[in-house]
Amino acid sequence: MPQFLHNFVCFDCRVSFKRPATHSSETGSAHLADSERDHTCPNCGRKMGFMGRNFATPPKADKSAWLAAQYLWEAGFRFSGSGYHSDAPLPKIKQAVAAFVEANPNHVQRIGRPNNWRKYA
Ligand SMILES: [Zn+2]
Repeated sequence: MPQFLHNFVCFDCRVSFKRPATHSSETGSAHLADSERDHTCPNCGRKMGFMGRNFATPPKADKSAWLAAQYLWEAGFRFSGSGYHSDAPLPKIKQAVAAFVEANPNHVQRIGRPNNWRKYA
């Protein structure tokens, strides 16, 4: 059985990599809230953030989209699941995130622990 891969990102370098999130390849799930494994950014060496299975990597130059993803990640949102649910889609521009987070305390994709990227290690 092939390894179940998830997206890990470095918000500093604006890069995303698909990596295994569990120690056993038998326990993969699209609904993971966090990773059992740590992966470091090949660019800068810092610990990458776990985004989930369905994160669509924005172009490197799209700062707003990367900041939106970072703020969502910090608020505990993960790009998990099948992508099919009736809750509001996650915003892709940074200006929209604060209001979105405020309006969606129980969103189906808000499954992770809140975090602070600058302090994350
Ligand atoms: Zn990096």
